[in-house]
Amino acid sequence: MYDSGLSLYKTRKWLLENGYVYRPTGLFISRGHLYALLRNPLYKGYIPFNGEEFKGKHEAIVSPELFDRVQARLIREREHEHQYLFDGVMKCEYCGRYITMELHKEKYIYYHCNNPQCKQKTIFTLEEYFVKQFLRAMKRIKIQPFQFKMFMKKAEDELYKVKFIAADTQEKLVIEQQTLKVNLDKMYEDKLKGVISEEFYVRKQAEFQQRLEEIETELDDAGNTTSGKGEDVLPILNMINNIGYYFETGGFHVQKALARLVFERVMLRGKTLRFKYALPFRYFVDNAEEYVTLEPTSSIK
Ligand SMILES: [Zn+2]
Repeated sequence: MYDSGLSLYKTRKWLLENGYVYRPTGLFISRGHLYALLRNPLYKGYIPFNGEEFKGKHEAIVSPELFDRVQARLIREREHEHQYLFDGVMKCEYCGRYITMELHKEKYIYYHCNNPQCKQKTIFTLEEYFVKQFLRAMKRIKIQPFQFKMFMKKAEDELYKVKFIAADTQEKLVIEQQTLKVNLDKMYEDKLKGVISEEFYVRKQAEFQQRLEEIETELDDAGNTTSGKGEDVLPILNMINNIGYYFETGGFHVQKALARLVFERVMLRGKTLRFKYALPFRYFVDNAEEYVTLEPTSSIK
């Protein structure tokens, strides 16, 4: 199935749907397991030993040709799928080009400047080395106590304004509601007296009724905006304070997203990164110059 052009994901789905999966633990085969299965040379009649393959005595389940074709596609797709953590984030400080990434021996990721004219074109650095520098740069983001107080104060002020506006809106809505009710009663009397037609009454009554329902909803909304507190900003402030922690404990996608969110630009000089923090994070880095350089030997944690 995989050879017919389906993705690993779809092949897995097909196997499940057609009852080919017989793992004793249940009806589950992971994408990773399928990958390992497709990679196993046992199925073309070979036995892997010490990194080499020997022709086995057992019968091949698939032809060596099919097996090799599948291998080629797996490798191709894996390379295509492979994502680099800081792809499109770093620029070479000397020539200004984006840093290029390369996968070596299918597991080591090297970053380097690919510009043949660049003077740091021969410097290759492992991705892991940069992960540490990014982590240190993120851990420097800390909301200072005076900033904390300032934000809380601002939040309270804003909330006061919102409450004031909401109260004003509520008052207007209540007046409109009462006026509509009075008019509805008056219209009903007019209809009884024959001052207005039955048709006119029915049409107007429906209009008023609809507006009354809208007012009910708007009053609910206005009521809800007044229930907030200044402490509502605390989770946001805590989130900013914990950016480094999120980067340290997050998975690939979290790290990738944070690297793009927190920095406006990252320049590479030799093996050292120079960080320009994006707003608002720049406010929370103590003594931040335009670019912050963290020397590899520095003790800043
Ligand atoms: Zn360069």
